[in-house]
Amino acid sequence: MQSIFTRIVAGEIPTARIYEDTETLAFLDINPASRGHTLVICKEEHTDLLTTPPELIAAVARTTQLVARAIMEALSPDGFNIVQNNGAAAGQVVYHYHVHIIPRWEGDQVIRFWRPGNATPADLHEVASLISTRL
Ligand code: 5GP
Repeated sequence: MQSIFTRIVAGEIPTARIYEDTETLAFLDINPASRGHTLVICKEEHTDLLTTPPELIAAVARTTQLVARAIMEALSPDGFNIVQNNGAAAGQVVYHYHVHIIPRWEGDQVIRFWRPGNATPADLHEVASLISTRL
């Protein structure tokens, strides 16, 4: 079954479009975390970061930068977050690779960040080694 974003690309579902090129589309999130909350997607349907071809990830990154600049000019937020969810545990709901641009204003508290934890240098080196040996 096609993702909801593929149906948006096809024009089957109306959306507030901001920008598009051959590979990417940017449009406003239907349930915005803040004013100007934008989704940048690759038009081709791929599930997540792991399954999307690197050249399309690069195209989404280019569009994200372009649109983020426009958001800064148009809405004058104090900053913005880039959020990209992979997997249900990470909060992914639509399984079609996308990036959120979430404009932020001082004190808005629209996103809760992680609580900084603790690790020993030995812990960090062990985890780094586990990961790096897979590359
Ligand atoms: P995820 O949690 O998968 O990273 O985020 C999916 C996002 O897509 C959510 O923030 C949700 O509000 C947005 N979304 C889901 N369906 C639609 C839709 O039909 N139109 C638009 N514009 N956004 C949608």
